[in-house]
Amino acid sequence: MLRYLKRMNSELYGKTDIKSMTKPELTDYIIKMGYPKFRAAQIYDWIHKKTVTGFSEMTNVPAGMRDVLEEKTVLPAFTVLARLKSEKGDTEKFLFGLGDGNAIESVLMRYKHGNSVCISSQVGCRMGCKFCASTLGGLVRNLNASEMLEQVYAIQRISGERVSNVVVMGSGEPMDNFDNFVRFFTLLTDPDGLNISGRNITVSTCGLVPEIRKLAELDLSLTLAVSLHASDDTERKKIMPVANKYSIAEILDACREYFSKTGRRVSFEYSLIAGENDSAESAKKLALLLKGMGAHVNLIPVNPVKERDFKRSNVTNILNFQEILEKNGINATIRREMGADIDAACGQLRRSYILGKEKREE
Ligand code: SAH
Repeated sequence: MLRYLKRMNSELYGKTDIKSMTKPELTDYIIKMGYPKFRAAQIYDWIHKKTVTGFSEMTNVPAGMRDVLEEKTVLPAFTVLARLKSEKGDTEKFLFGLGDGNAIESVLMRYKHGNSVCISSQVGCRMGCKFCASTLGGLVRNLNASEMLEQVYAIQRISGERVSNVVVMGSGEPMDNFDNFVRFFTLLTDPDGLNISGRNITVSTCGLVPEIRKLAELDLSLTLAVSLHASDDTERKKIMPVANKYSIAEILDACREYFSKTGRRVSFEYSLIAGENDSAESAKKLALLLKGMGAHVNLIPVNPVKERDFKRSNVTNILNFQEILEKNGINATIRREMGADIDAACGQLRRSYILGKEKREE
């Protein structure tokens, strides 16, 4: 763990990013600035427990020290560029403006068992999946741990509701931002912060094999989800460029290692695209691939993206696909579609914002 925590992007918007620091790191930093150690504990508490976004709110910290912090460091404070509520009210989507003018999306989903927040891990994405809106403009930059955290903190503050689950399934490839992701996880599960249980955190990857293995080695007690979306490499290469780098066999090997090292079952996402990957044949092949892994498959009817001509599978094919998996002993659920009426598919809200902005600036 420490190996990954050693490397940190300590800058944000040209200042020191103290919100991405662990408590021991913040303590070092505050002591080096010439202040007593207990100030670090106070500041950490303001940042990660009370989740304030301004130094002026840290009322038990002397004004002079707050000025120094203000000058040298930064706490990411987002502007709410858009907030959309689904008709049923169970889903809310936020488009947040970052300090450098970029925009990211986060989603609040209200379930019976509690509130879940889906966060972005990068601005844009460079994985190039053909059906995904987040990757259309490529990768702009990685998010710092503080910016991943702030999505959860901001939604909790704005909604006034407690967040109990976090899924890293928004825009971006979290395993392509590995160190910042590990840092984010460490801070989010810190008992001196929001203290969200690792078991309630899910990270989704398109299948970066070396990173899946690194994650297995860290044994973080989180849930790993892998976006498979195909039952053979030829089919996968057509929709996911990353398939040219890692084969399904290599990915599943890494997943088996993840399971044996952490004792946690891996789940698989499978977006159903009409005529591409939704045949009975594909379902049978998928069942064979996953046999004996105790895996769970999450079937997602693809959300059509304007720029692409993928169509979602019809209901019969979706149910058929699920039935074949189940019959072959693979547990499969069809993702309840939440908030389709508010552009909840990955990256579509940010995409419309960027396109609108370009138009306004023309
Ligand atoms: N990069 C990570 C996490 C972000 S995407 C990953 O690939 O897993 C979260 C999930 O939504 C992935 O399974 C992704 O393939 C899927 N997804 C993206 N766009 C979609 C769309 N238009 N319709 C259905 N699922 C989509």
